[in-house]
Amino acid sequence: MASTTAQVLVLGSGQLARMMSLAVAPLNIDIKAFDVGSENIVHPLTQAVLGHGLVDAIASADVITAEFEHIPHDVLDLCEQSGKFYPTTKAIKAGGDRRIEKSLLDDAKVKNAPYAIINTREDFDAAVATVGLPMVLKSALGGYDGKGQWRLKERAQMDAIWQEMQQCISESPAQAIVAEAFIPFQREVSLVGARSTTGEVKVYPLAENVHTDGVLTLSTAIDEPQLQLQAKQMFEAVADSLDYVGVLALEFFDVDGQLLVNEIAPRVHNSGHWTQQGAITCQFENHIRAVCGLPLGSTECIRPTAMINILGEDSVPNSLLALADCHIHWYGKEKRAGRKMGHINLCGQTKAELDSQLKHVAAILDNDAFPVLKHLIPTKAMKMV
Ligand code: AMP
Repeated sequence: MASTTAQVLVLGSGQLARMMSLAVAPLNIDIKAFDVGSENIVHPLTQAVLGHGLVDAIASADVITAEFEHIPHDVLDLCEQSGKFYPTTKAIKAGGDRRIEKSLLDDAKVKNAPYAIINTREDFDAAVATVGLPMVLKSALGGYDGKGQWRLKERAQMDAIWQEMQQCISESPAQAIVAEAFIPFQREVSLVGARSTTGEVKVYPLAENVHTDGVLTLSTAIDEPQLQLQAKQMFEAVADSLDYVGVLALEFFDVDGQLLVNEIAPRVHNSGHWTQQGAITCQFENHIRAVCGLPLGSTECIRPTAMINILGEDSVPNSLLALADCHIHWYGKEKRAGRKMGHINLCGQTKAELDSQLKHVAAILDNDAFPVLKHLIPTKAMKMV
């Protein structure tokens, strides 16, 4: 490639747009971000306002993409009409509406939890009869990181849960509830991959994910060929059915080695942040390569890597940086309880070295702020042995 400067407009101005911008600066690709809240065009690193109005920004962009799925449909439609938008608006809408997501998974013949859609109390009764108990109830719109969800274990809870669900449904005419069978999974894994404009697919190794209170806290790249193959086939089925272009993430439940898709994210994903240090080409660069019509970079894992999310904290001890292969990524956001403020990527030359690195990090960090690391620190009793 010559020193072509491509102008990419990203819908959304959070950390994902920021990390896309950092990843593709060496390719001379310039990212501007559309802040959906203020409707300003902003610099993805500084948040400085660069312009107002989406129409002009669309006109001056070569390519348009998105960093999150909760985007007003009129904005999406405007972008789609320009012919510059990737992936498809259908994929973005599926990521933002669990009803569309579920029917898409069914159409692609990809295994997912049995479900029913609830709009009324009668639907709720019917869902309990068809889906069975226990079940997980999720708002169709606007739910993420475990928000807008209820667990129904027994019929006696139905009236109380219905009160809350009814309130949720009444907040928007488009809202509904998706009732899903509770899946007794052993662990959660995800597959992040990219599909190019020519239909080429490259996926990263699966990541094993730990959630704390519904929010991702730890993600570790794993090397499990059988599971990888299964996940890749499901990824291709979904990506091909959408004629997808860009990075896509599939989140799975692992039930005795059998994968069921929990969610799809039509974008770069938190469980793919480890690729910044652990893969030949990171997910952010590959997303922009894909939407700009460039060849995809290798998704090969170069060393065992894990990612720890920094939630609600705006500083960590500098001694972390003294560890070999420990990388801190801040998002430049104002501190707020529970907010994703940054992440730490940690690598080792071997799995054993990564495990020992994780123990070092756990000992350095305040473990009330990083509960996921608590089990890695030897207890006092163990230390005395
Ligand atoms: P979600 O927002 O759909 O990713 O759900 C948040 C978390 O709730 C998931 O990461 C799972 O740990 C759990 N969960 C969601 N759906 C189910 C289900 N059908 N069965 C069991 N656990 C679930």
